[in-house]
This record gives sequence, structure tokens and C-alpha cells, in this order.
Amino acid sequence: MQNPSFSQLTLPADLYENLKSLDYHTMTPVQAQSLPLLLEGKDVIAQAKTGSGKTVAFGLGVLARLDVKKFRVQALVLCPTRELADQVAREVRKLARGVHNVKVLTLCGGMPFGPQIGSLEHGAHIVVGTPGRIEEHLRKERLSLEHVHTLVLDEADRMLDMGFQASLDAIIAPIPRQRQTLLFSATFPEQIEKIANNIMQRPERVTVESPQ
Ligand code: ADP
Ligand code: MG
Repeated sequence: MQNPSFSQLTLPADLYENLKSLDYHTMTPVQAQSLPLLLEGKDVIAQAKTGSGKTVAFGLGVLARLDVKKFRVQALVLCPTRELADQVAREVRKLARGVHNVKVLTLCGGMPFGPQIGSLEHGAHIVVGTPGRIEEHLRKERLSLEHVHTLVLDEADRMLDMGFQASLDAIIAPIPRQRQTLLFSATFPEQIEKIANNIMQRPERVTVESPQ
């Protein structure tokens, strides 16, 4: 069966045009199943293998909900490693390229603080980073999450394996409850179920068994 086209979605026109110019025409299964829910503002738990297109799914969801005129951190994407955070930031910038004047800031451990502090002073719409470093910027009050309306936990299983539970709790606590929470993971250990119960509201589940 032919994969469905992005044109089936009610995406902002400029975002849709940009997808065409990137040669993204048909959705992967996890995109086709999760994007309608994401665009409705639902909380979503999505399980699908690496390489199945999860970043594009939540990246589009985040961008579709962004108010570019409001220069505040509106979306926070948490990733287990710097490499993954860099990949996510690159993909989101690509999706937003030439469309919006969207500022994406990466905040990862293992990087010097100075440039991150400077960038935080300038501001951003979307922050992508690793939990330890984000927690630290929060603690030092360099980062405010009070305007975040979309929270994404990418590779949640790996973040838990790496012992980020306490950091995740500290980061999520100050984010307004009135938000969309998205949890993407390749596997579904019981610990994730517990987190989901605590931080999400009536999540919809999307499971894609095999890579497309
Ligand atoms: P995951 O997060 O599930 O590991 P990614 O979102 O990183 O997967 O996607 C894997 C690769 O597939 C990326 O290089 C991305 O650019 C590409 N890709 C994702 N969705 C599409 C699509 N609908 N059409 C074409 N390429 C896509
Ligand atoms: Mg991914």
C-alpha cells in the first residue's frame, strides 16, 4: 500500500511547502499515525524503531504549534545524548528553513557554558538538549520554561537507562500543566509507563512494530 501524503494533514501552508522543497512527500507509518493526533493537540506516546521518522513527526508537531511572533521558549525537546540532540536540532531547523524565523537552541552537556549562557540571553523559540545541562541552566535561573506549551521526551527509554529520572522530574515540574506532552521511545519498559502517568494527560498511543 502506498504511504499517505503529507497533504492529508492540516499543516500550516508554509510548513507544507517547505516539506515539498525538502522532497518529503509521503509519511512514514509513525508519522501517518501520530501527526493527526499531534496536530489536534493530544498527548501522544509513540513507539517505533530508530530511523522510522519520529523526529520529523514531533518536529512538525512542534513547529505547527509555534507562535513565531512570541519570542519565548515554547517547546522543549529532551534527548539522551548530545549527538541525538544535535540531530534533532538539525532536523527541526531543516523543517523550519525558509519558512519561519524560528530560533532553535541546543543545550547539551560536555559543551562550554559561556556560549550557551550568551545564547540564552538572546532567547529562542525551541530548546533541544540533554537533561543534566538543562536542569543546571534552570537551577541557575538562566532558562525559563513558563511559556513552554510543547514538551517532547525523545528516546525516553534511553534517558531513563542513563539515570536521568531525577533531572527529568526537576525539569518538568516548572512547566505549565496546560501543555502538550509527547513521548517517543523505541522500547516500553514499565518505568516509562509510570512517567507517562505522571506527566501526561489521557495520552494516545501509537505503536509501529517494524521499520517502514
Ligand atoms: P527516528 O527519530 O525515528 O530515528 P528520523 O526522524 O531521524 O528517525 O528519520 C530518519 C531519516 O529519515 C532522517 O534522515 C529523515 O530526514 C528521513 N525522513 C524522515 N521522514 C521522512 C519522510 N516522510 N520522507 C523522507 N524522508 C524522511
Ligand atoms: Mg529519533
